[in-house]
Amino acid sequence: MQILLTEKDKLFKTKTNIFLSGHLKENNPINLKHLWQSLYKDSLISLNNTFTENILLTIEICRINPGIGLFLLTQVTCLEIINKFADKLLKEKYSDKLLSGENIACFSLTEPQAGSDVINMETTAKKETNKWILNGHKIWASNGSISDAIITFAQTKKHRDKLGITCYLIPSKEIEILKDTPKLGVKITPSNELFIKNLSIPESNIIGNIGDGIKIALSAITLGRLYCAAQAIGLLEGILAESIKHSTKRNQFGKSISENQAIKWYIADMTKDLEAGRLLLLKACSVKENNSSELNKYSSMAKYFCTSIAQKHSVTAVQIQGGKGLTDSSYASMAYRDSKVLEIYEGTNEIQKLILAKELNLN
Ligand SMILES: Cc1cc2nc3c(=O)[nH]c(=O)nc-3n(C[C@H](O)[C@H](O)[C@H](O)COP(=O)(O)OP(=O)(O)OC[C@H]3O[C@@H](n4cnc5c(N)ncnc54)[C@H](O)[C@@H]3O)c2cc1C
Repeated sequence: MQILLTEKDKLFKTKTNIFLSGHLKENNPINLKHLWQSLYKDSLISLNNTFTENILLTIEICRINPGIGLFLLTQVTCLEIINKFADKLLKEKYSDKLLSGENIACFSLTEPQAGSDVINMETTAKKETNKWILNGHKIWASNGSISDAIITFAQTKKHRDKLGITCYLIPSKEIEILKDTPKLGVKITPSNELFIKNLSIPESNIIGNIGDGIKIALSAITLGRLYCAAQAIGLLEGILAESIKHSTKRNQFGKSISENQAIKWYIADMTKDLEAGRLLLLKACSVKENNSSELNKYSSMAKYFCTSIAQKHSVTAVQIQGGKGLTDSSYASMAYRDSKVLEIYEGTNEIQKLILAKELNLN
């Protein structure tokens, strides 16, 4: 299996970095919708992209601001759901608009009583002649407040019936979206609580078939985990560069702090783990591009490993910078907060271990 970058991948990476140096300048406000539209105009977002190119794009962007990765992940996986599972009419209505960034999408599965245990959802969909009436309460919907369309899930049969959960596309303007949930990290991508009250949705807004909801959600989350791993790799590249820069410039006791063995060890460990994480992620990309049955296993391993090392080393990055690393405006403090969040969404890291054990037929 090819797990090293091809010449085409390297060119894509260079093109991405040229784009980013013009569009993601430090301290400039970031408009996520505008960023996506600009990436599309410059052909960095395209249906012709390989999966690895999408992952490289995520890494490069997250090297500058890891939180943007959640916005990208959400838009890419919603587009994937529409292209893979929606019928012709729904696809015609949304696919091009999501690709170009004219529309922004939100993926809304989680509920107050249904986090890791998604089957426990309480949102219901009841059929009335040729329409569906949806009622429910969703939380942690990324991109909610900036979205035009929401891909959501509701129970059409009895509570906890896995085969009753169905996927619907609902227009954002037809439901109540609360103001952005304040959170520890990944602040740039909004997270929202949604209330769906007696919402009437035509039959044509069902994605896939009745009961396909869990299959669709898991298919999106499997890819989402790889984007989450890419966020972590971008973040690690960012903290490694910052740690080297700071430690070689900062003088204490008449020499740079990087001359101390303690600091050298921190940076050596960071470098070693980053390389291992990057290789695991590229291997997972290769597994995806080869349609291998091992995708679930590799996406769980990559998500778990890359986000864990990102969390571990962002703590170290703050330590290397001392007080400077604690200031809100420092990259290290942003990475410290963002990396904690990465260990939780797209399935917590404990859940990744359960998935991996299941793939190994341990139970
Ligand atoms: C910033 C952010 C963005 C998010 N974006 C989205 C989004 O766009 N769309 C969406 O639908 N959801 C989203 N989520 C929700 C996210 O997927 C859930 O938070 C996550 O699945 C965990 O659910 P929970 O928070 O309810 O934790 P819980 O499921 O309550 O878990 C709490 C703890 O218990 C552990 N635990 C639970 N079950 C087990 C078990 N069987 N074995 C061992 N340990 C277990 C967990 O690992 C965790 O440590 C987002 C969350 C965050 C924080």
